[in-house]
Order: sequence, then structure tokens, then C-alpha cells
Amino acid sequence: MKSLCQLKSREIEKNLREIMREVTKPKYVCEKCARAAREKKHLCKPVKIVRSSAE
Ligand SMILES: [Zn+2]
Repeated sequence: MKSLCQLKSREIEKNLREIMREVTKPKYVCEKCARAAREKKHLCKPVKIVRSSAE
């Protein structure tokens, strides 16, 4: 699968299960598109998500 940032709506439909797995408990967020993913290879400008210790 290519990066979530590049997916078109038709491709999102086709890959929905994989995308759901990828966006659940994400570790990275795309600085450019505001999409989130578990692996940074799925984003075009990934930034690691920092969770607050209060959670
Ligand atoms: Zn992006």
C-alpha cells in the first residue's frame, strides 16, 4: 500500500481494512496532511506523536 496521504477515495474504499488497522493507535502524524498512521512510511511528512503522560 502506498502512503495514506496519496490515497484517492476509490483506493481508500479498496484498502479500507488495511487503513483501519493503520490508523488505529497511530504512532505518526503527517505534518502536511494531518493524517495518522502506525508506520511512518505511510505518510509523506511523518512526525512522531508524543502522548502526554496524563493519558
Ligand atoms: Zn502527508
